[in-house]
Amino acid sequence: MNAFVTRFAPSPTGLLHLGHAYSAWAAHDAARACGGKLILRIEDIDRTRCKPEFEQAIYEDLDWLGLTWETPVRRQSEHFEDYTEALETLRDKGVVYRCFKTRKDIADEIARAPHLTPDGPEGAQYVGAMLAALEERSLLAEGAPFAWRLDTSRAAQIVKNVSGPLTFMEEGAGPKGQHGTITATPEIFGDPVIARKDLGTSYHLASVYDDALQGVTHIVRGEDLFPATHLHRLLQAVLDLPAPTYRHHRLITDEAGKRFAKRDHAVTIKALRESGETPASLRKRVGLS
Ligand code: GLU
Repeated sequence: MNAFVTRFAPSPTGLLHLGHAYSAWAAHDAARACGGKLILRIEDIDRTRCKPEFEQAIYEDLDWLGLTWETPVRRQSEHFEDYTEALETLRDKGVVYRCFKTRKDIADEIARAPHLTPDGPEGAQYVGAMLAALEERSLLAEGAPFAWRLDTSRAAQIVKNVSGPLTFMEEGAGPKGQHGTITATPEIFGDPVIARKDLGTSYHLASVYDDALQGVTHIVRGEDLFPATHLHRLLQAVLDLPAPTYRHHRLITDEAGKRFAKRDHAVTIKALRESGETPASLRKRVGLS
């Protein structure tokens, strides 16, 4: 058994850029340093935003960067039934509820009482409620679309009753230098959507599920995902999945200190490759030896 398994889990919604190269190398170097394994996973649940040509470009770019990975690569779009099963487990535990509200309904509700919904990592910390059985039944009969929201406080309470305070281990650093044993505060998400109306799952659920399925022991990723870890830790605990160790890393920024986005074409790995850069020159540029 591998003692150290990490992963690089890009979404093929655009070309990878220098920030992704840094992240992929960080995971790769961490695995190599201890004789561990790097898994590549394609996070393509959002079929409208993900494109086959971007997936192909991921393989080409990573190969050029010098990474190797096992095949077949897990593509999340081929495993929706797994995420449905995870959602059923959450339903069995009574920690999710159907939300029939539209974005507008929720925005209106928040506008009426903004003090109740401070901002969290994904916008307002919206907390809804399960509908009365009769009302829910009639909406279902009408075929009204709905998302599933996590009842965060109920899930957190269940976990706390069983195993005490929820924490995760950060071996890297969060955006404010958070390091070491961190107390998880999933309530910063309010009751997040855990299964989208259009997808039946979410990044959070699919990613947490796959990390456990693939035996990931260490998650190396950008510090922009540090806040999501509070929620991921709760999902792991409530789904009885093991807790990986986290190593969040700094984000690569341009000269003005702005982080790269997929729309910054000048710093895509493809553009850099075509402009004559080499993997060695790029490693140097992002501060890796
Ligand atoms: N698929 C996510 C992204 O491309 C990364 C998820 C993760 O590393 O947990 O931003």
